Amino acid sequence: MWVGEQSGGMTDRELAETAADGLSVLANPLRLRILLALSETRQPDWEQRGMSYSDLRAAVGVEDGGRFNYHLDELRGRFVGNEDGHYWLSAAGWRIVDELYAGTFSGSHERREGELSYTCDADDEPLTATVEHGLIEVTCPTHGTVFDMTLPFSLLDDSDRDLDDLYEYAFRQAQQYVESVCSDVCPHCGGRFDGPDVEHAEVKQREYLLVGFRCRRCAVAFRLPIEQIVVFRPPVVGFFDDYGIDATSPALYDRSGEWTMDVHEHEDGFVVAFECGGERLTLDLDRSLATRSPSREPIDDDDEAKLTEERNG
Ligand SMILES: [Zn+2]
Ligand SMILES: [Zn+2]
Repeated sequence: MWVGEQSGGMTDRELAETAADGLSVLANPLRLRILLALSETRQPDWEQRGMSYSDLRAAVGVEDGGRFNYHLDELRGRFVGNEDGHYWLSAAGWRIVDELYAGTFSGSHERREGELSYTCDADDEPLTATVEHGLIEVTCPTHGTVFDMTLPFSLLDDSDRDLDDLYEYAFRQAQQYVESVCSDVCPHCGGRFDGPDVEHAEVKQREYLLVGFRCRRCAVAFRLPIEQIVVFRPPVVGFFDDYGIDATSPALYDRSGEWTMDVHEHEDGFVVAFECGGERLTLDLDRSLATRSPSREPIDDDDEAKLTEERNG
């Protein structure tokens, strides 16, 4: 039984104590400068062995050797590896550097708000994006919030990127998130999921077949429309690509006038069907939401009759 088990078999209290210990090691600007200096060795070189002691010390620029050694020593093991007088970042060290560059611990940015060039797929109303506190939120005047996602602070600060850019990036992030969940790996903690629980529900005046997942290890739980689970699967991406629609971009929903979708539940699973350009793609999903038999066929009446004839021999 997984329920109640925490990261690495630790309780919340143990996890917090170990992490607080690690964070206290990092709570020093000189130590963070050492990590940033070591990140300079992120080179396309398979044989790179990190930095020599003298290069590292020169890069950080500390006069006092004793002080430098003390702080480097505190980082060794958990955040910095070393051997034969060379130093490199451990996996945990890399994570910390990534978060430093992402502005996670230092980021703050101006609130940004504006109209996107995308419209709501249900009513064609212009969508608005608000970016605040590391979060992008996309809203429709009729339907309220239709999308939200956290983003690196450094990305939100980049004035070269307009709100459309941020939304497109966030959309793909969400896609990776869903793919991770569908492979039963929690994107936050690596835990397995309970579910999927599928239920019919009305949300913001629209009928959905909602799929719910709950991580057994961390606190993550969410519900998504079933079509969002399958829309990035290869048969669907290929189907839309044949009609010049990029299913991996928000343009998919913006051009909803060109395609329709139907979902329904049956005895041992679900059917999601997309129609576009006179063709229908049908995905039969089992209860675990695995794709059983994708099929494509023309929806033209004549063709339909022909197909039925063929099937009947
Ligand atoms: Zn709307
Ligand atoms: Zn988790």
